Amino acid sequence: MSADLVIVGGGVMGLFCAYHASERGARVVVLERGRIGDPMTASFGRTRSYRSDYLDPTYARLAREAYRLWGTFEARTGADVLVRCGCMNIVKRSVTPDLETTYAHLSHRVLRELGLPTAAYDGRALRERYPFLDADLARIDLDGGVVNLPAVTAALLRILQERGVRILEGTEVRMAVRDGELIHVVDHGAGHTTRSLVITAGHGTNEVLARLEGARLHVPLTRDRPIEARYFAPPPETREQFTAAAMPVIAYLDAGIYCHPIVEGLSDKLKIGYYHPPDLPRTQTAIDSVGTFVEHCMPGLRDAESTPVSDTDGCDYDLVADDEFVLGPVPGFPGAHVGVGWRGTGYKFAPWTGLVLAELALQRGTVYDIARFDPARFEEGGADGTSVTAHPAAAPR
Ligand SMILES: Cc1cc2nc3c(=O)[nH]c(=O)nc-3n(C[C@H](O)[C@H](O)[C@H](O)COP(=O)(O)OP(=O)(O)OC[C@H]3O[C@@H](n4cnc5c(N)ncnc54)[C@H](O)[C@@H]3O)c2cc1C
Repeated sequence: MSADLVIVGGGVMGLFCAYHASERGARVVVLERGRIGDPMTASFGRTRSYRSDYLDPTYARLAREAYRLWGTFEARTGADVLVRCGCMNIVKRSVTPDLETTYAHLSHRVLRELGLPTAAYDGRALRERYPFLDADLARIDLDGGVVNLPAVTAALLRILQERGVRILEGTEVRMAVRDGELIHVVDHGAGHTTRSLVITAGHGTNEVLARLEGARLHVPLTRDRPIEARYFAPPPETREQFTAAAMPVIAYLDAGIYCHPIVEGLSDKLKIGYYHPPDLPRTQTAIDSVGTFVEHCMPGLRDAESTPVSDTDGCDYDLVADDEFVLGPVPGFPGAHVGVGWRGTGYKFAPWTGLVLAELALQRGTVYDIARFDPARFEEGGADGTSVTAHPAAAPR
């Protein structure tokens, strides 16, 4: 079978690549080892936060661009995938006394420098508006919120089917070889001939790369996961306050905390996670669990019934050694491109990464500056093919 593009991995990144490529009229095949929406993949769940409030302006700009593309996706598919509740970073002085160094303060500064819509609350305004909180100030990314994952997957599958994209589940790549301009992809069936290959296989990426004859890339990926994640079911008399109609995503990233509100028809409990991403400075605080966060900052949930999150989020984050995305051509295998290493922050970027991968695959270039994410920084350079050389642009910062 021949195709303009073969995508290996049917998570949100692969499906968005298929979405943008098929929009340009390309004949696309997606090869998925398991099944789309498998609970053990990173793209399975109910909600993921989306936000532009990064400390690094490059990521903030890209998240903003992704936000624009989410809007276009909603308009094209007619699906409501974004729950526009805002994303609020809080600070409590007794927990993080040095206000100037808090995530809320620093990320707010970046958003303002970029001219993005924000709001600020002092303690009094916070207590009036969110009586369940105990914090001294908050900074809000007004265009943040949560993504509705089942709605995204359903909208993507529907439109990809309408456009004739072939999604082959239970299919693994055994080998891919180049033959001039063409790439032969060998699977357990008749195989595929294409000019472009995109690999978005999450934790399976290195396994796929190893099957591309001549490819010189091994991405230093490791797994990580939240230390704790719990659901909270507030009592009926206060439940309304914790719904997305009244409550934004609330984050206290200096203390490793993020909270997703109840979304009617999608998640009937509040989710609170505790995790310290390696790319953020770790501050020692009195908060060392979800429970201590509730105790210090969310007294309105003290009496709420709480249970561990076990029905979703079973997958690990895909961390990269230098904490940067890996997005671009595969060294040693012209015509192949890869996207991986999104850490715990990739979902919100999916319409953008899918667009970049589709442009690279079909046009061999993109209007976006992705030099920073060049996979070549991990090109296998040693004679024995095992040593990893870091690209100068990707030196740890
Ligand atoms: C618990 C958790 C919470 C998160 N929270 C957020 C958040 O709040 N906000 C945010 O923006 N991001 C968040 N993320 C990150 C985001 O969910 C991921 O970055 C994103 O889903 C990654 O998508 P993917 O398509 O790269 O990977 P996946 O969804 O894992 O898809 C990869 C696919 O490739 C397939 N595959 C693997 N090997 C092969 C092979 N050899 N052949 C064929 N197919 C193969 C797999 O079966 C899988 O379907 C979170 C991630 C996790 C795990």
